[in-house]
Amino acid sequence: MERCKIRADLVRLVEFARKVYQTRDFIPLHEPRFIGREKVLVQKCIDSTFVSSVGEFVDTFEQQLALYTGAKYAVATVSGTSALHIALLLANVERGTEVITQSLSFIATCNAITYCGAVPVFIDVDKSALSLSPKALREFLETYGELRDGKCYNNRSNKRLSACVPMNTFGHSCESDEIKSICDHWNIPMIEDAAESLGSFYKGKHTGTTALLAAISFNGNKIITAGGGGAIITNDEVLAKKAKHLTTTAKIPHKWEFKHDMIGYNYRMPNINAALLCAQLEQLGSFIENKRTTAKKYEKFCNNNQIDFISEPLNATSNYWLNTILLKNHQERNDFLDFSNSQGVMTRPVWSLLNELPMFENCFAMPLPNSEWLADRLVNIPSSVRV
Ligand SMILES: *Cc1c(COP(=O)(O)O)cnc(C)c1O
Repeated sequence: MERCKIRADLVRLVEFARKVYQTRDFIPLHEPRFIGREKVLVQKCIDSTFVSSVGEFVDTFEQQLALYTGAKYAVATVSGTSALHIALLLANVERGTEVITQSLSFIATCNAITYCGAVPVFIDVDKSALSLSPKALREFLETYGELRDGKCYNNRSNKRLSACVPMNTFGHSCESDEIKSICDHWNIPMIEDAAESLGSFYKGKHTGTTALLAAISFNGNKIITAGGGGAIITNDEVLAKKAKHLTTTAKIPHKWEFKHDMIGYNYRMPNINAALLCAQLEQLGSFIENKRTTAKKYEKFCNNNQIDFISEPLNATSNYWLNTILLKNHQERNDFLDFSNSQGVMTRPVWSLLNELPMFENCFAMPLPNSEWLADRLVNIPSSVRV
């Protein structure tokens, strides 16, 4: 069979991934590992019959997650998308407003913005960190931002800029303190999409803890998982209480009465998922150590073979959720995706840029040279925890 020719370096990379994972079988991009107390805690949860909305595991998980991230509060939710939705609502993202975000992100970021009735405004990412560029953010605000009565408006659309949502791509932290100070200057709440960055730090602080609120995901492909799940983290007690209230149908606590004081959401995490996550969280430290070692192996191999590997940004410690390489151009990217997947070593391109999807193609976008450049070249390579 005629194969497209690819560089010998890239053929060797596919072989190297087999060496890293020590198997001739299919290698997925990212599979979960349940090698701790998962079965014990889930069994305990089932035996208790409290598998749903009430139970000790949700509370324990929230406490442990707050402890791990250093956030004062954590509220467990049914998914990362629902966590982001509630975080945006709590930041007062209203219908008819605009939310600044990056075009290089997963669809959930923009879906959550849209659930609030707001529309995204797309800003470029940084080429090395892959996350929202502070420089591009400043440029946008200096060109279009206008403070009226302490609120920031886009003077081109006349809409209020109600939030800014950077996303920590593949676990690499954005420059959160720079972004925060720009947001503060323009009085725009910063909400971090930290779905991919549990266990990643920037200048010693856990991702998401610089923002007003942040969302984490425990979907099946994330660093720890309960099949599905999410969490909101924040240092603000009032917002944390509101987050709990809104995600639990806005029910006023009472022994028997069912009274609700607003339209809430059924976004709570079931206790059985929380049981699984308690066990997963116990292993997070060892997962990260394992993944950082894998990343070092790939990094060294890539440096010796003229392959561009994305290393953790300056001042950041990454969880290396998904390892990432950059190919020379779009053609080479496609040839490599073809080749590696045909060899049973799963690789994947980055998401389509969000501003190019039909739902968002009419939204305002600043020039996106880095996002476009990256979208043509970026490939994720196998990154599961090695067993
Ligand atoms: C996974 C993910 C989410 C949330 O996903 P859920 O599947 O709803 O938990 C949000 N944003 C990004 C960037 C993600 O990768």
